[in-house]
Amino acid sequence: MSYSIAIDGPAGAGKSTIAKKIAKQLGFIYVDTGAMYRAMALHILRKGIPAEDGPAISKACEDADITIQYENGEQVVLLNGENVNGQIRTEEVGNMASASSVNGDVRKKLVSLQQKLAETKDVIMDGRDIGTCVLPRADVKVYLTASSEVRARRRYDELTAKGVSCDFDRIEKDIIERDERDMNREISPLKQAEDAVLLDSSDLSIEEVVAEIIAMTKKNVGMNRL
Ligand code: C5P
Repeated sequence: MSYSIAIDGPAGAGKSTIAKKIAKQLGFIYVDTGAMYRAMALHILRKGIPAEDGPAISKACEDADITIQYENGEQVVLLNGENVNGQIRTEEVGNMASASSVNGDVRKKLVSLQQKLAETKDVIMDGRDIGTCVLPRADVKVYLTASSEVRARRRYDELTAKGVSCDFDRIEKDIIERDERDMNREISPLKQAEDAVLLDSSDLSIEEVVAEIIAMTKKNVGMNRL
């Protein structure tokens, strides 16, 4: 029997940083589902399909083979066999991922891949619909959030540290727009699952959030197992 931890929340709440650390400490596999939506978005952008063209996006799913594998413990996303990790972290791809993830065919394809991954392995998976849709029976569910200002500041610092020039107000505006769309879409909108624990990371350190989730997991899964 395998165990699962579901972490949902808006962009920039710290989900991936926290999930990676927990995965390492517990020996779980970290699955970044946003990276899969981003790989699909890259495929759509490469085809020159506009975000509003739902039928063309559905059709594009047919020739997008998205798989993940692990190299030195890091998740690598393959789009039709090509490692696209280096190309999916731009704001352009993020915005297209948010726009194209409203599409039912995109979601169906990626949710089924995510569920298969969790069938046989202990996973910590982060995204927008993990606790509500992908893993409704997860052992631990967390809804991780922070104020839009804190989240925009984190994205800004991350990008500037990489040498990417960016504008803080623009980043905050994009984050708010993306949340709006993720929370109000028809299929699997971002929301806190009824049985998820709400954690606001605005005033908590990464280590504090990690410790809290590990404690919850040990309690739910049993100390002997971990
Ligand atoms: O988490 P990340 O910013 O990489 O995700 C990019 C976009 O993919 C999100 O804004 C969201 O629209 C979409 N997504 C989703 N469901 C998930 C993960 C991501 O709809 N489980």
